[in-house]
Amino acid sequence: MRSYLEFPLIYKILIGLIIGLIVGIIVGPAIEPVKPLGDFFIRLLKMIVMPVVLFTLVVGAASISPARIGRIGGKVIGLYLLTTFIAVLIGLGLANLFQPGMGMALVGEEVVREVTPPSAIAVVLGLIPTNPFGALAAGQVLPTIVFAIFLGIALSFLKEAKIPRISEASNTVLGVFDGLAEAMYKLIRWVLEVAPYGVFALIAVVVGTQGPKVLGPLAIVTIAVYLGLIIHYLLVYGGALGIAGLNPVRFWPGAREASITAFVTRSSSGTLPVTMRVADEQLGIGRPVYSFTLPLGATINMDGTCLYQAVCAMFIANAVGSPLPFSLQVMVMITAVLASIGTAGVPGAGAIMLLMVLESVGLHVEAGTSVAVAYGMILGIDAILDMGRTSLNVTGDLALTSIVAKTEGMLNLDFWRRPKVA
Ligand code: ASP
Repeated sequence: MRSYLEFPLIYKILIGLIIGLIVGIIVGPAIEPVKPLGDFFIRLLKMIVMPVVLFTLVVGAASISPARIGRIGGKVIGLYLLTTFIAVLIGLGLANLFQPGMGMALVGEEVVREVTPPSAIAVVLGLIPTNPFGALAAGQVLPTIVFAIFLGIALSFLKEAKIPRISEASNTVLGVFDGLAEAMYKLIRWVLEVAPYGVFALIAVVVGTQGPKVLGPLAIVTIAVYLGLIIHYLLVYGGALGIAGLNPVRFWPGAREASITAFVTRSSSGTLPVTMRVADEQLGIGRPVYSFTLPLGATINMDGTCLYQAVCAMFIANAVGSPLPFSLQVMVMITAVLASIGTAGVPGAGAIMLLMVLESVGLHVEAGTSVAVAYGMILGIDAILDMGRTSLNVTGDLALTSIVAKTEGMLNLDFWRRPKVA
């Protein structure tokens, strides 16, 4: 039992996937009875989505201290948002090019897409909940995100209020949200412990009922995501550094330790101490800049996650025979950017937030539906995708922080001129 618990989850999920594949191929359509196991897992995931969104986003938004927002904050938040937006464009572009999942026509209970492409004005107006509690209870993701961000920012102002009663009260509320957010991280871990079995059942049923031909598309998803990550890494960060007059060829080896740590730990938050050390010792970034921008980046700047969510949303829509028209891809653009901001920097969090992106385009992950099956397939390979996207997330924080530091005169350019001797 102990060695089972100590065995890394990522391998357990992968093993679940492989066993599911083999069993599905051998048993064929008679595998149907294991389906409830997959449904059980999907229901657990659904259970945590809305609380995760609310609690973690309030805490995330409140972490932007108004006192420090000033010029550095404005610049770095602007850059974080801009690159995240480019990431979603790259993701959607590649997904349109590769069309992963097209022609799979997964079967399940009927897919319900209630979303008729809304007008641009309706999308923007729809972001504002007329009743935040109603939005939360109805599982409406975007309005809930917007409310959570507003609430978090309001609390971050109030916690520094001059009147002690107000600052104390706000700190107490934030403490409660913080505790709830931590509880959600714990729940995510527990739910993910069930993932090997859920993934086993979901994959076995797909392969058993539809044959092994469904695997090709998963390879295409992986290729599209990694290609997107590489393009973003080279062109967007490389280009941005170049524009800022910094040599990308010096940046990459400097950032390497953080990029690799993120790749293996699959956690931006977990990598933060390494990211900070790298900023200091390898890239010569001034402490006043990185001590603020890196923790913020580990919370809100998730370009890799955003790109991955765009590709996967397109895959799932294609796989269930319901490809996204342009207007719904615009919806994915908005939701994936917001969802990535709301994604916690812990392993697998991006896959949970993907549920929200799907929800916003009418792809409901309900037990028994083909959407749930397609989602389960993505979860089966999530560890592989998580490594790449987390690495990009962290590398992005460092690249953009270097740029902001340079513009503020807080970058030691000696680090960028000559190769660093170890
Ligand atoms: N693991 C990612 C990170 O920590 C988040 C995600 O799952 O996308 O950056």
